Amino acid sequence: MTINPRTLLESHGIAPKRSLGQNFLHDPNMLDKIVSSAALQPDEAVLEVGPGTGVLTERLAAVAPELVAVELDDRLQPILTERLAAFPQARVIYQDILSVNVPALFPDRPYVVVANLPYYITSAILRHLLESPHPPRRLIITVQNEVAERLIATPDDMSVLSVSVQYYGKPQIVTRLNPALFWPRPDVESAVVRIDVYPQQPLDVPDDRTFFRVVRAGFSQKRKQLKNSLSNGLNLNAGDAAAVFATAEVDSRRRAETLTLDEWARLTRAVAPLLH
Ligand code: SAM
Repeated sequence: MTINPRTLLESHGIAPKRSLGQNFLHDPNMLDKIVSSAALQPDEAVLEVGPGTGVLTERLAAVAPELVAVELDDRLQPILTERLAAFPQARVIYQDILSVNVPALFPDRPYVVVANLPYYITSAILRHLLESPHPPRRLIITVQNEVAERLIATPDDMSVLSVSVQYYGKPQIVTRLNPALFWPRPDVESAVVRIDVYPQQPLDVPDDRTFFRVVRAGFSQKRKQLKNSLSNGLNLNAGDAAAVFATAEVDSRRRAETLTLDEWARLTRAVAPLLH
């Protein structure tokens, strides 16, 4: 079966949908590079989000003991069925990934996510996967370059997205992708990012919910000093707020984008007893 998405889709009378982020990667070297950067171990299953025409899926199915691909667009079913016919351990679920109960897919196995993500819901998919009670061991995801930069951001450029992803794992850029490697050609550059998920939370925080409550409050007022954003967001009076910053040893005049994850953890521990 051809790798050329244009020929393949046209032969099935399918026009790509921009609204579903359908930009198909057709460079064999890059597809191989994505698979090798996943460094799949013999015990690891694979979850692919958005298999499209299945060019990445078939490469993953050739090495994975079990593979589940979740595709929203069921027009692609004839193509995927044919492409994956030789791989009985691979199956496709035609559903929105955000409505899939991911932990139930691989109840007894570690799994790895490999996906050229639909860019319109990148953050929601990352949240859905990373916040899961049975998260993947790692993710190898193609995202738009600007998002990749936010994922690997360092203090001074942090955002809720960078803090959220770096809370769960360690992201790094594997490679950049030129728009010419996709059809239809996207307007933006892309990048492959690998996120190694921590087996145990390395930060000392009371719980995830409180940590993210504090982080969201901190980022809620763009460019404001933390003493304003945290006090407003968490309803702290001036005295309590001053005590929290002193205990956490964080300067209250700093801005949210400059904090390290450890500083967010210290603020969370300091403020947690005051929250309801
Ligand atoms: N993996 C293919 C490739 O590399 O050429 C296609 C990648 S394309 C960027 C994104 C894919 O995600 C499309 O096939 C699209 O239909 C699918 N998709 C879009 N929204 C989705 C959703 N909510 N759940 C599952 N798949 C989705």
